[in-house]
Amino acid sequence: MTGAGPSGPVIGILDLQGDVREHLAALRDIGCSDVRLVKRPADLVGLDGLILPGGESTTLSMLLESTGLFEAIAERVPPGSGSSPDAGALPALPVLGTCAGLVLVAREVQDGRPDQRTFGALDAVVRRNGYGRQVQSFEADVVLSAGAGTALPTVFIRAPMVLSVGPEVEVLAEHEGVPVLVRQGLILACAFHPELTPDRRVHRMFVDMCGTNRRVLPEPTPGVAADLLGASEAL
Ligand code: GLN
Repeated sequence: MTGAGPSGPVIGILDLQGDVREHLAALRDIGCSDVRLVKRPADLVGLDGLILPGGESTTLSMLLESTGLFEAIAERVPPGSGSSPDAGALPALPVLGTCAGLVLVAREVQDGRPDQRTFGALDAVVRRNGYGRQVQSFEADVVLSAGAGTALPTVFIRAPMVLSVGPEVEVLAEHEGVPVLVRQGLILACAFHPELTPDRRVHRMFVDMCGTNRRVLPEPTPGVAADLLGASEAL
């Protein structure tokens, strides 16, 4: 397993709206010492992974656009982000999307707002609020299909429901036959809130993915970082 710690991967958390503090605490729990809050495009420079937290995907979509972060992240999180980036392109960025974050990475969203945008990086169709309203929030223990360990305690709050996934998507956990934790290449996403329970296996899995990806990446090109910084200064 990849160790977090001083030389571990640098993880960013999108800090526009939603449960940012809880993800920060979860990362600290597993020893991630370099966690950065992402509010503008320049904050993406040097990250080995990005968490898109739960919150409200329609609001997040609007704020991503107004901060210039939508385009900056989309460049690093192309459709089917599992595949290797094209030569010369910015290296693809591993992403953990939780709840609203799952909506943000999905290829297709049902019951969303017509102007709501997604990165389309995960070949999945999701229905926004597919499990019902706030009062229908629930907790459940789900079994990880990788087989490892005990059931994972989960919390679903106005969660998106995964209606279908493409052939390249690996289903890592299901609840009542419906995928709730999925992975496609560098994209890990869940319908529930792993940051709201004490079990840190989802965060650990993501940090491991980021560490592995970092080891296979080419050295960053200074020009690319400068372009990103320039883009943000122009905001
Ligand atoms: N229903 C919210 C949405 O569509 C997600 C809720 C959550 O993140 N807890 O964005």
